[in-house]
Parts: sequence; C-alpha cells; structure tokens
Amino acid sequence: MKIICIGHNYAEHNKELFGGYEGDPVFFMKPDTALLRNNQPLYYPKFTKDLQYEVELVLRIGKLGRGVSERFAHRYFSEIGIGIDFTARDVQRECKEKGLPWEVCKSFDYSAPVSPEFVEIASLPDASDIKFSLELNGETVQQGSSADMIFGFNRIVSHVSGYVTLKMGDLIFTGTPSGVGGVKIGDMLVAKLEGKPMLRVEIR
Ligand code: MG
Repeated sequence: MKIICIGHNYAEHNKELFGGYEGDPVFFMKPDTALLRNNQPLYYPKFTKDLQYEVELVLRIGKLGRGVSERFAHRYFSEIGIGIDFTARDVQRECKEKGLPWEVCKSFDYSAPVSPEFVEIASLPDASDIKFSLELNGETVQQGSSADMIFGFNRIVSHVSGYVTLKMGDLIFTGTPSGVGGVKIGDMLVAKLEGKPMLRVEIR
C-alpha cells in the first residue's frame, strides 16, 4: 500500500506555510514504512530539531482506480480515519530553499500515524462537514472541518488517480488546517474525529 498526502488544502494553513498557493491539488507520498499503527509511540528522529504535527482526515481507498472522474470518485472510498503527517520542518525549509524533493522531511519511518479504527463516512452526522481536532498535552492546538478544504475528497481522488493508480487499502491524507506546531519528547497527542478520540501518539 501507499500513503498519499495532499499539501496546503486549507486556506489558513496555505497562507501560513505556502504564501497562498493557487492551482491544482499538490500531493506527495510516504512509503508503507511510514505507517505507525495501534497508537504506538513515536521516537523523536535524530535528524531534526523541529518535528511538527499536522492532523489530517485520512481516506481509505476501497477499490482500484485509475483516471477516475470527479463525478464517480465517491465510489472509490467510503471510510475515513484520522492521522498525523509528521514533518521535519527544519529539514523541509532546507529542501524548499534548495528546490530539493521532500522525502527526507516527510517520508521517514513512522511519520504517518493513523487511527486504529476507520468509520463509514455515511455514518457521520454530516459528510460535507466532518469535524476533527488535535490536542497536545490536553490543549486543543488544531481544529478543522472537511467543509473548509480547498479541494474536496472527490476532486482529490480524481486528481491523484490521473497520475497514480489507487489501490484498495491506500491511504490519502487530505491536508491539515492551521495551527501546526512542534513537539518534544514526553508530549502526548490525541486526534479526535467528531469529538471522539481516535488516535494517540506519545513522543518518546
Ligand atoms: Mg500535511
């Protein structure tokens, strides 16, 4: 399986880090070795001094898809979970400055914790307004809703599948709202979907 991540999909975060980029959805990938499952702790990587969280809604692909049109994209996913797109921000800054690819700052081992459970989107109160948040040591640091995404799920699936075949079990991280920030050893992160704690990550 593979992990696809959408960049700057919320207006505020887009301003925060990308100077208000406009255009098609931007995506990058993490390998399956980036997965962190079952609420396992994350060991602070040695190559960064600025490890940051980005809480994101995560779509699980349910069907093989290539060149999917936006109109039929909803047939390719039905479940949603929550994840954290961990980023070595200092390393990313360097990559951006030098015009280098992002793998070293985004795709490292265990940089993609995902919730043990996924839920049927149809079972949520409002599929067009899926609320999620992140707590750092008990304090809410990020809050978002799928209603605030620049590119919705269908557009994302359609766009990505025009370049990369989607397979059953692939995960799409759909972008982070504003409020990203750093963590330190000993911190506890809790990600919530519709107010329900779904994912815990302790930084060790
Ligand atoms: Mg992200």
